[in-house]
Formats: sequence, structure tokens, C-alpha cells
Amino acid sequence: MRMKRTLLSAIVASTLALAACSSGGDDPEVKDVDASKFEAGSTMAKLADAGKITVGTKFDQPLFGLKAPSGDPEGFDVEIAKIIAGELGISADNIEWVQTVSANREPFIEQGQVDIVVATYTINDDRKKVVDFAGPYYVAGQSLMVLKDNNDIKGPDDLAGKKVCSVDGSTPAKNILENYPDAELVTLDTYTDCLDPLRNKQVDAVTTDNVILAGYVSQNEDEFKLAGDQFTAEPYGIGLKKGDDAFRAFINDTLEAAFTDGRWEEAWKSTAGTVLPVPDAPTIDRY
Ligand code: GLU
Repeated sequence: MRMKRTLLSAIVASTLALAACSSGGDDPEVKDVDASKFEAGSTMAKLADAGKITVGTKFDQPLFGLKAPSGDPEGFDVEIAKIIAGELGISADNIEWVQTVSANREPFIEQGQVDIVVATYTINDDRKKVVDFAGPYYVAGQSLMVLKDNNDIKGPDDLAGKKVCSVDGSTPAKNILENYPDAELVTLDTYTDCLDPLRNKQVDAVTTDNVILAGYVSQNEDEFKLAGDQFTAEPYGIGLKKGDDAFRAFINDTLEAAFTDGRWEEAWKSTAGTVLPVPDAPTIDRY
């Protein structure tokens, strides 16, 4: 009997450990929210009342948004979305995840296909013409990734006459086009589409934010490396419908609270923080 109980508790313990591993840690706190606490007709009231939210994120970017075998994405962006949902009383199970690629983020928000976009999404004035942004909740910077044995490319000035792969509708692609015209830019739909061309030497480098590239390097350490320093600032915001100022203020308040009460740091540590150091929390831009 004693043996049996020991065996049983060992099985229970290892099952629990496995479950904890596969979920990538605990989900952020879900608040006990009464939808009537929000102004009637507000986006917060509608979402809290429905008990669900649709979030656009990346599905192919390790550390920030990567579709796991469970079917749901995992990463820092995903955890940030869960913090916002939790503040509306919505649990992670009630988040509908929609894959957004760089080029369809604004249209998905404008057309209401998603309630918010949390997808390595740089806040900038061009995009603010059609959507609004809460945040930033992190500041990345454009960088380069090359094959491990490439010692020729150390920064964007070394791209003259070289092929560099990036993504349609992204700020890094626009930066290369406008400021490094001697580079030969190839744009594809997603950053993972650039990986085989880099492996096969059809392109010499891949460019996007350092943290996205760091995710690919962490998964392919024998093949790829980051080259040189960051050469832009990419403040990551949460995209939402233009003109929804109350929702923007609510998300900004939520982020500010998460910066100070440990939820933001925990979100980082359980995702990007497995590879990257903990950053300082940025200052929210309540424009
Ligand atoms: N942060 C940049 C952007 O919003 C690059 C990353 C991406 O394409 O998601 O365009």
C-alpha cells in the first residue's frame, strides 16, 4: 500500500510538472470584473460583457509570438495580451488568437477582424493615421542576421550590393528602402520565409528587430548570428481602432500597473527573458 501511494504521488507530481512545462508557466491574473464598472457602450464594457477578445499576433516569431503544438501562440506579446484580457475579466482560454503578418495589421484593426494587435508592432506616425496605439510596452531596434561564418556584414552600411531579406509592410524594410538604397531589398510575407533563402545564400542578410532575430538565432545557433548593433528604435505598441481613446487609456493604465506590480517582468522572464536580459520598462506615450 505504502509503495503504491509513493508510486501514485510520483506519477501525480511528474504529470503536474509536465503540465506546468507545456503551459510555459502560469497565466497572468484574471480579475473578477463586473462589466457594469465600465462606461456603458465602451469597448471595455462590450468585451467584458462578451467574456472574450480577439487578438492579432505573430505565429512564427520565437520569444514574442510562436504557435505552439497546443495551437495557441506563446511569447512576450501573447503574455501582454493575456494581461490586458485579464484586466477585462477574460481568461486566456477565452482569447481568440488570429495570425497577423506585418502587412495586414492595420487592415485587420480597421475592419474589426481583431480587437487589438500585439505583434512586435512599432508605433509610428504613418500607422497612427489609420490606427491608434497604446504603449509602448517594449523598445526593440532594427538589426541584421547573417550566416555564422559571414564576417563581411557588420552594419547597414555594409549592405551595399548585398541582398537583404525583410517583410512587406514592416518598418525595417521601409528603412532599408529609404536610407540604404544601395542594398538590394527582397521582401516576403513573414520573417521565417527569409530563413531558407539565408541558409541557401540566396540572400546575404535578414533584417528586422533585434529581438525577433534573437529568437531565430536561439533556435538555430549553429547556423545564424546577429551582426552589429541596433540602428533604429522600434517602440512596440498595442494597435487598436483609431479614435477609441477610452480603450487606449484603459490599456495604457493596465500596462502602467503591470510595469510596477511585477506582471510585465514575469511576462518577460517566462518568454523572451529565457534568452534576453530583463529590460527597463519604457515610458507610456499618452499622445
Ligand atoms: N517592429 C517592426 C514593425 O512593426 C518590425 C517587426 C514586424 O514586422 O513585426 O514593422
